[in-house]
Amino acid sequence: MLLDSYMDAGVLVAADLVNRMVIRPEPGADTAVLREVLAVDPPSAAQLAPGHVPGFAALARELHAVFGELGGGDEDAAADRLNRLLAAHPAHPHLAKEDGRWRLHHHPADASLVPMWTSICAEALARLLGGGHADRAGSCADDRCGRVFVDTSRNGSRRFCSTTCQNRVKTAALRRRRAAVDD
Ligand SMILES: [Zn+2]
Repeated sequence: MLLDSYMDAGVLVAADLVNRMVIRPEPGADTAVLREVLAVDPPSAAQLAPGHVPGFAALARELHAVFGELGGGDEDAAADRLNRLLAAHPAHPHLAKEDGRWRLHHHPADASLVPMWTSICAEALARLLGGGHADRAGSCADDRCGRVFVDTSRNGSRRFCSTTCQNRVKTAALRRRRAAVDD
């Protein structure tokens, strides 16, 4: 995982882990789901084995709690939890030569997957919080969905996890307004 791209990847993977392992789990498909989540970093996806599932499930539960704390405005609790994760799994910057040039990675390529991704995800969310952007961590405004996201839009006005949810809620609201007019 390249250090200069890990923040986006960390945020993306953190939200994916929460959504796909806690909020909308697919029992029996954990390894396949994790391989899709880790596809942002092909060496990680290639290294993934069924034995990693419990560790990622535990990480997903911790990250779910962080999103809940940030969404509920409890920055102190989120910071405590992130500090615990960061202390247990510190980053391990490492230069690796690729195609004749040195690149700085967050961890060595053969680092253990779960500690590495715990570190990457926790650091990405810690940067969000430390940068004064805790309010960018949100959950879908459609209560029936509840998926989490990190709002990277310029004006920070995102309310839904996806355009699918946004369109579904808009269509339902439109239908209600039409029904009210017809009454
Ligand atoms: Zn949604």
